[in-house]
Amino acid sequence: MMIQVKDLYKSFGDLQVLKDINVEVKEQEVVCVIGPSGSGKSTFLRCLNLLEEVTSGEVWIEDENIADPSVNINQLRTKVGMVFQHFNLFPHKTVLENVTIGPIKVKGEAKEKADIEAVSLLEKVGLADKANDYPRSLSGGQKQRVAIARALAMNPRVMLFDEPTSALDPELVGDVLAVMKDLAKEGMTMVVVTHEMGFAREVGDRVIFMDEGYMIEEGDPEQIFNDPQHSRTQAFLSKIL
Ligand code: ADP
Ligand code: MG
Repeated sequence: MMIQVKDLYKSFGDLQVLKDINVEVKEQEVVCVIGPSGSGKSTFLRCLNLLEEVTSGEVWIEDENIADPSVNINQLRTKVGMVFQHFNLFPHKTVLENVTIGPIKVKGEAKEKADIEAVSLLEKVGLADKANDYPRSLSGGQKQRVAIARALAMNPRVMLFDEPTSALDPELVGDVLAVMKDLAKEGMTMVVVTHEMGFAREVGDRVIFMDEGYMIEEGDPEQIFNDPQHSRTQAFLSKIL
């Protein structure tokens, strides 16, 4: 088991945002999380790498309960990579520097080694020719592929994606999804919050529907999309499909 979440609750002040979350993700599994805006999808992902503090419950990443205050956050973040909707690249660093900064600063890798690995990751996402460019000269889709390479540079055990294509022009979505699909094929364990139902169907091993802080229903993509059991899942899917 790569991820095990037990009785997770998360509140912001009086606002309970995650309630009674119990979920497991196996090694090499791709789990897609869908649901309406405000249902707690991002907060759930952020609890998996401690971008949010857990209010109660347990979040196990492999053999470590990260809800335990003694956990080493920097070490955890090398294990759990994250890709955001808005890329979050460093604007004053080149593409190559964006990818190497984590390995150099956090993992203490030598620059030469980090550079070699970064170039091969940029090749993998189809951007080797952009290594010396700055983010501002890239399209949104290219920026997002750099962000994926940057996360992969830490050699994570799990990758979290929070609506990675939602900010992109439609014609740029496909290249990013293709990179994610390749990663899945290589056996990366992935949790993907997405509105791309085609991706969830094709690449997802499992789909989870969230609403109002609860995981309402989960199942394999065929079942969730063709035969949703819960009325809230049915209502959500009828609006978007
Ligand atoms: P989703 O990603 O499904 O759109 P979020 O996890 O972003 O949902 O948000 C779930 C709820 O938590 C929303 O009501 C949102 O306003 C609230 N929320 C998220 N982050 C914070 C925060 N840092 N402080 C207060 N409320 C927050
Ligand atoms: Mg969100």
